[in-house]
Amino acid sequence: MLLDLKQVFLGEKKSLPMDCALDFSQLEYQGNYPFIDPVRVQGEVSAESGIVKLKATAHFVYQCACDRCLDAVSRQMNIPIEHVLVTSHNSDDDTELKLVKHFKLVLDDLVREDLIISVPSKNLCRDDCRGLCPNCGINLNTQSCACQSDKIDSRFKILEQLKQSDLQ
Ligand SMILES: [Zn+2]
Ligand SMILES: [Zn+2]
Repeated sequence: MLLDLKQVFLGEKKSLPMDCALDFSQLEYQGNYPFIDPVRVQGEVSAESGIVKLKATAHFVYQCACDRCLDAVSRQMNIPIEHVLVTSHNSDDDTELKLVKHFKLVLDDLVREDLIISVPSKNLCRDDCRGLCPNCGINLNTQSCACQSDKIDSRFKILEQLKQSDLQ
């Protein structure tokens, strides 16, 4: 989606509302396609005391696999998209400012960066997900296996040994 911001930059318009759905279904991140559904971006570009700002919210469903059991996880997310837009850079270190060439802003490029930044570092199907058995690979949320109890027993034994060595 290409936004023509000339009128806002020239002060002919105070603001330009936007409400659109962007397609990031082909955006791959860590082997997943987390943004299968359209990302809705609602907000506006407005000028205030000569500063042009983009303020919007991206609404989307983030889809991935649970970190522990690999089940499908989908999370409803709303992230703020806020940037100060400029038509020319004054200094090289103004990385916060987004350069808009010829008053035209490719909204997709801007939103894509913010989407990647917003990706949650932890994704669990539920807080107490029990994951897969490291031994036989069974999903411990839905099934149980014999190897699990052995594992726990041996862990407890190690703990016991640690406690005893602490005391010595
Ligand atoms: Zn899980
Ligand atoms: Zn097992």
